[in-house]
Amino acid sequence: MIAPDLETGIARLREMMDAAEAVVPFTGAGISTECGIPDFRSPGGLWTKMRPIDFGDFLASQEMRDESWRRRFAMQQQFGGAKPGRGHRALASLYKAGKVPGLITQNIDNLHQDSGIAADHVVELHGNTTYASCLGCAKRYDLSWVGERFTASGGRSPDCPGCGGFIKTATVSFGQSMPEDAMRRAQELTQACDLFLAIGSSLVVWPAAGFPLAAKRNGARLVIINRDETEFDEIADLVLHDDIGAALAPFIAH
Ligand SMILES: [Zn+2]
Repeated sequence: MIAPDLETGIARLREMMDAAEAVVPFTGAGISTECGIPDFRSPGGLWTKMRPIDFGDFLASQEMRDESWRRRFAMQQQFGGAKPGRGHRALASLYKAGKVPGLITQNIDNLHQDSGIAADHVVELHGNTTYASCLGCAKRYDLSWVGERFTASGGRSPDCPGCGGFIKTATVSFGQSMPEDAMRRAQELTQACDLFLAIGSSLVVWPAAGFPLAAKRNGARLVIINRDETEFDEIADLVLHDDIGAALAPFIAH
């Protein structure tokens, strides 16, 4: 059912949360927009104006690697200081109450971890942009480490001092395969829950969009909280077409 108004939706959501044993949230860009992080895919979003750098191009050219890091550091100035929003804080409260065994996200902004969910319990389908790693040996690098070398060399992407490999943000780029471990953990969480919350995702990006469907098929209840309609609204047990912060704020434990 589509909630007729926010108040009814929140009351129904609370009943479903209370009745659930294991709640698994699945989050998309919509949960982070109130934190000042734009939805790159949205109409008018960054990716409609500037083509993302494909993984093959990143590997093939020093220029593309330099450009990729130039864009990343420009982004840092705009929203590097972003803090968790009401949606993140509400989900962290449910997690701390023992309701949420783990969370699946399409976001790369680290805000779920910042809100207090242990990194081990956040499954990142598209990786994480708040640190970097070597594509050769997988060694992890802080952005500040990359930034110092990038600046000192006049804007050149540094290579790994250990193995000479390329250093890239720990995100999954277009053209890069989905991380197997994250996909497996997301499937396990989906199978183990009895309430699946799809929040702030248009649910059109596959394979990620398969999770709400899998949860529903497995007998879990499905709740969708998203400003716009999604193609799964019809099969959901509850749909809130509202602002995510407003819909989840009542679930923040103080
Ligand atoms: Zn390396």
